[in-house]
Amino acid sequence: MEIRKVGIVGAGQMGTGISEVLAVAGYTVYLVDISEEKLDTALQAIAENLDRAVEKERLTAEEARAARSRISTGLGFDGFRDCQLAIEAAFEDESVKRAILAKLCEVLPADAIITTNTSTLSVTRLAAQTGRAPRFLGTHFMNPVPKLELVELIRGIATSEETFRTVRDFILSLRKTPISAEDFPAFIVHRILMPMINEAIYALYEGVGSVTSIDTAMKLGTHHPMGPLELADFIGLDTCLGAMHNLHEGLADTKYRPCPLLVKYVEAGWLGRKVGRGFYDYSGPEPVPTR
Ligand code: NAD
Repeated sequence: MEIRKVGIVGAGQMGTGISEVLAVAGYTVYLVDISEEKLDTALQAIAENLDRAVEKERLTAEEARAARSRISTGLGFDGFRDCQLAIEAAFEDESVKRAILAKLCEVLPADAIITTNTSTLSVTRLAAQTGRAPRFLGTHFMNPVPKLELVELIRGIATSEETFRTVRDFILSLRKTPISAEDFPAFIVHRILMPMINEAIYALYEGVGSVTSIDTAMKLGTHHPMGPLELADFIGLDTCLGAMHNLHEGLADTKYRPCPLLVKYVEAGWLGRKVGRGFYDYSGPEPVPTR
């Protein structure tokens, strides 16, 4: 099947980035959200990013204009009627995703493929809602989508080989690198990254090192571009805690127990950069360690 038009559900951080990357690669995009304001913000963010790409000579002005013109938006699902692929990127809430999948199945052509950008939910369980499990797959883009080249592809138990190959080729056409992950909690990237962040918080909790020594150790000692605590603040401590709960429950292994200090920070509302305080305080010109 040739993919030409792609419908995207959710104009948040991920849906916005995915729309931009697809439009630049030449696909026609329909982006839907429940909020007109989110759609406006998404179009504005895409326009600013495309302008920046022109300034940096990664795109010509004509290419940027053409990419922008390939994206249409709306509050209804009618725009999915002629899509070959739908990408679900709404809230990480199973009941929200279920309702969206039901709507998609009503309007999409019978042979269209659906993918979900879920970070934590079972792809097999979501696929089972659709009546088209062979044409359902997880496509886990990384944030920020225009910058990070990896996409994890997660087969549900019933995903067909043809669907997998079609989506893999599609991801390659975006100049992204697909890797295959099985449908286990947190897939590959978060399965490895989140316990590392959790361990860094344990090291802080147990007094092995300060925020500065832990982050400096990992940056200079292992060439990580960001220290694990700085990265936790960037991702959001509530997201990190949610991922650890998911690993702990899903794999039933105590090695994934969330660090009590992480739980406390989330309870305090110190969720990282997005609220101005986490392992660092972001209220001044430079982030200052809070421990
Ligand atoms: P977000 O909260 O920024 O955006 C979600 C959007 O979905 C919102 O604009 C919301 O209005 C919209 N929405 C909610 N219900 C809807 C509905 N019924 N119909 C249409 N739109 C609806 O979320 P995000 O960070 O973009 O994450 C989206 C998905 O991608 C989640 O499944 C998340 O787990 C996953 N993900 C997020 C990241 C990340 O770093 N943010 C990385 C990889 C994957």
